[in-house]
Amino acid sequence: MSQRTSGGFSTRAIHHGYDPLDHQGALVPPLYTSATFAFPDTGYGARCFSGEESGYFYTRIANPTLALLEGRLASLEQGAGAVVFGSGMGAITATLWSMLAPGDEVLADLTLYGCTFSFMSHGLTKFGVKVRHVDMRDPAQLQQAMSSQTKVVYCESPANPNMRLADIAAVARIAHAGGAKLVVDNTYCTPYLQQPLVLGADVSVHSMTKYLGGHGDLTAGAAIFADAELAKHVRLYGLKDMTGAVMSAPDAQQVMRGLKTLTLRMDRHCQNAQAIAELLERHPATSAVHFPGLPSFPQHELAKRQMSQFGGMVAFELHGGLEAGVCFMDALNLITRAVSLGDAESLAQHPASMTHSTYTPEERAAHGISEGLVRLSIGLEDLGDIVADIEQALDLVTAMGAVSGMVKGTVSAPATPPAAAAPSCSAPA
Ligand SMILES: *Cc1c(COP(=O)(O)O)cnc(C)c1O
Repeated sequence: MSQRTSGGFSTRAIHHGYDPLDHQGALVPPLYTSATFAFPDTGYGARCFSGEESGYFYTRIANPTLALLEGRLASLEQGAGAVVFGSGMGAITATLWSMLAPGDEVLADLTLYGCTFSFMSHGLTKFGVKVRHVDMRDPAQLQQAMSSQTKVVYCESPANPNMRLADIAAVARIAHAGGAKLVVDNTYCTPYLQQPLVLGADVSVHSMTKYLGGHGDLTAGAAIFADAELAKHVRLYGLKDMTGAVMSAPDAQQVMRGLKTLTLRMDRHCQNAQAIAELLERHPATSAVHFPGLPSFPQHELAKRQMSQFGGMVAFELHGGLEAGVCFMDALNLITRAVSLGDAESLAQHPASMTHSTYTPEERAAHGISEGLVRLSIGLEDLGDIVADIEQALDLVTAMGAVSGMVKGTVSAPATPPAAAAPSCSAPA
């Protein structure tokens, strides 16, 4: 079969590994929904199972539709191989379980996606793996913490939800010097904005539920590997035996549809998010805005070095903390109150009571997740409409805050507070 494997990022996102003329001219790759695959003879089947033959035999291990997506992902992120999964957590758990054994240690960043934190704190530790957290904004802390048991170093950059970055090249050098491998969750960036393997990471994991699928209509995950042998091990152990977290072929086809517009969508997400972050920073009701594209962001220089653009996620805090944050969220009209991210629709969520409620309040405090933090996934709507929604919500919070003397009163309150639309400003139980 002739393979299209060259060209720029967008070209490969659309064409990699597929030629219509090999498939009766079908522009869109055929969808293989079959769970099992016929053997021409018994010996061939036996050779598939022993690994001597690379033919398809059962979809939990490999499937032509999934393989096409895996090839595309490996190409886009310059990996030697990729494995796709039924969810981001499927990718993360299968990868880590395959790489670790009792007695080993994981050094993980301070801030992690809630379920990844929970998996490490309550899952891995139950099986004799030690997990310690270090603040990877400071590579010296990682250097200090490395031990002979450290087998995996793990981080997200930017981290969900507080946007902290890790210097991937520096962290990779320290991990490798200590005999460990580096796994980076690249969900926030996608392969288009950041290439962890090129920067030195060993594995890049993704929740494809987010930007790669891009439309909020599926759950999927992927792990992309610098080393083809590790990819094979994760497939034949982490995916096949340990988690069985296989992705469905129709979902893989939908992700490939998402990939076709990835660069266009990301350009727009980034553009809109930059404008929203600047708006939030200018507004007197906010006390902190976390977005790598702001010159005031403490790691802005690092962001410019390792990301091609700054992404579509913005986190911020209001004067008035939790209560003001909940008030802001309840005042939104266009932006949808929902978890997840990377969809066409702008979404707002409250990490402390939602995605990061897997942490105790004490853990959140220790891991840099403030109770009042609001996380926005900036969508693809017209920027003017997103701006208008955020401005009216901030004005409402300001007006209500001014009444209780909570917010500094530099923004003029609406002459008549919109009583009918007034949100209840009570914090969640
Ligand atoms: C959503 C998310 C995950 C988990 O992915 P699922 O597809 O929901 O299982 C992991 N890491 C990050 C950074 C995420 O945002």
